[in-house]
Amino acid sequence: MPDIDIGERARKLYQEALVWDDHSGFDPACQPDLTNLQRWAKSGVNYLSVNVGYDVIDWRTTLANLAAFRAWLQQHPEDYTLIKTVDDIAQAKRAGKLAVAFDLEGMNALDGDVNMVNVYYALGVRQMLFAYNLNNLAGGGCHDRDVGLTDFGRAVIREMNRVGMLVDCSHTAHRTTMEAMEYSEAPVIFSHSCAKAVWQHGRNITDDQIKACAKTGGVIGINGIGNFLGENDITSKTFVDHIAHVAELAGAEHVGIALDYAFDAENVDGLVENNSKYWPKEEYHGPSDYLPPEQLPEIVETMVRRGFSDAEIKGILGGNFLRVAKAVWK
Ligand SMILES: [Zn+2]
Repeated sequence: MPDIDIGERARKLYQEALVWDDHSGFDPACQPDLTNLQRWAKSGVNYLSVNVGYDVIDWRTTLANLAAFRAWLQQHPEDYTLIKTVDDIAQAKRAGKLAVAFDLEGMNALDGDVNMVNVYYALGVRQMLFAYNLNNLAGGGCHDRDVGLTDFGRAVIREMNRVGMLVDCSHTAHRTTMEAMEYSEAPVIFSHSCAKAVWQHGRNITDDQIKACAKTGGVIGINGIGNFLGENDITSKTFVDHIAHVAELAGAEHVGIALDYAFDAENVDGLVENNSKYWPKEEYHGPSDYLPPEQLPEIVETMVRRGFSDAEIKGILGGNFLRVAKAVWK
């Protein structure tokens, strides 16, 4: 088949698909001007999970971020929908708006109180991961001593299952993730994690973690950070290498996309460089490139060339995360 057909097929697929980016990577403590979200909207993304807090910052700052981000989105109703349900996403796509919900990176945001899960859910948080690189009250972080899931972590999972918030194992230590996936009654995700078998990095996940996630019915969102994908490598080829590895191991219906894109990359690089506690020097050296949302159409074309079927590609672009959200959100 000539190349022109591949390009056309990819363009059509991208237009028809629900495009879901499961995690943004900009500094949540930034001033609340979210104009840059237009980059996702203009790139054809339909749903974006916006990070509002992580273990590095105080939980009060997380609440302040939520207040500011919610207010900003509500002041721009012509371009954005702060969604509550899965149906709101399809409605936003039809109306040509970017659907947005929030995520938390680490359970320090709960300040030790399980009841905070419900509060965050009411404010639009639809997924929360355990620990951000270092250990916390709930379990182990991926760059810390691997302590496993704690009683508090188990109580949080029960509450997340009850409320309908997605249990997210990215940034978390191996043993904690395996125990959390065993314990959760609802599908569990790795919102933004690459495969260790493709590139060795402490933030990437092993094959047994990938298989266990698929067994829960969950999805692994491939991360677009150059240092996690390879040697600061944000080529579409390498991104699709990670997709293909997870698809081969666990099935294409368990792969998604979470670019972790930071439009304020210099801020993020500075943050990482100046805090070797959360970002140990042996894992984080030198600035990273970020795969931008504008590159998504090229990734689709790369998947077409790699032999993925139309149905598989639509699932990877968003259908798979949508399936999990349908099963878990309330
Ligand atoms: Zn992250």
